[in-house]
Amino acid sequence: MAELIDGKLISAQIKDECKEKVALLKEKGIEVTLAVIQVGEDPASSVYVNNKKKACEYIGANSLSYNLKEDSTQEELLKLIDDLNSDDKVNGILVQLPLPKHFDEDEVIRRINPDKDVDGFHPINVGRLSIGEKGFVSCTPAGIIQLLKRSNVEIEGKECVIIGRSNIVGKPMSMLMLRENATVTICHSRTKNLSEVTKRADILIVAIGKPKMIDASYVKEGAVVIDVGIHRPDPDSKKLCGDVDFESVEPVAGKITPVPGGVGPMTIAMLMSNLVNSVE
Ligand code: NAD
Repeated sequence: MAELIDGKLISAQIKDECKEKVALLKEKGIEVTLAVIQVGEDPASSVYVNNKKKACEYIGANSLSYNLKEDSTQEELLKLIDDLNSDDKVNGILVQLPLPKHFDEDEVIRRINPDKDVDGFHPINVGRLSIGEKGFVSCTPAGIIQLLKRSNVEIEGKECVIIGRSNIVGKPMSMLMLRENATVTICHSRTKNLSEVTKRADILIVAIGKPKMIDASYVKEGAVVIDVGIHRPDPDSKKLCGDVDFESVEPVAGKITPVPGGVGPMTIAMLMSNLVNSVE
């Protein structure tokens, strides 16, 4: 039986720490402000944006909302980002992705001042991470490091296998694990003999986007398994699942994150942490 890594509890701790820091900043007369931009009215994006605003409220930070119409232009969005970049009251800027198809997302991300890029997606911040400089780190992988550390998982010297090489999860995850002195292997859709590689892992991080793909045959006895995937396998049911087949892997793993309640809640907690750090 694996020990559960409790993302709900750990994310709550991180948000409470942020709340304390915001209160201390307020005593010094410093306000913390996040600007959130949403383009269009995609219902899933609206839920994410609302959750981010609620988290700001919880930690005592201000949130400014900007809603652009679905048919607004790239220039309008870039102009808004320019205004927020030069507004000293705004510490963090977040553009909710994905944008409608007619936008150039890369240009939008590059326009955000890297020192206000609380999502950690700007190439400058990605570069800072890869050369070991301070900067904003993509929230989901940063949250996974916190899950591991706060669950007393030793990382240094361990074999870490990451499945997935996306820019927001897999790649920054590999850099962070390297920074923590793990021996890191990245697997992806063209990896041959995947289970042979993953069975070497002391720490297996799964970010594939395929419901329940990873079963016990991919996991070494006693491994720590982190499941980044979030899926609703049946649109009518409220039940969620991850990229890991929990029922199959849980008896083999040493520690494991559940879905929901594992990696999911960490992303917003780390966004709040990035926001507070942007001021500090
Ligand atoms: P992505 O689609 O951008 O990347 C998936 C990666 O998996 C790719 O690099 C691909 O090479 C690899 N892959 C695909 N099929 C594979 C296979 N059969 N074998 C090995 N590798 C394979 O996905 P992403 O944005 O990194 O997200 C991954 C999952 O994590 C999704 O389910 C997503 O919903 C979830 N996610 C969760 C959070 C969170 O807050 N918990 C945040 C981001 C993403």
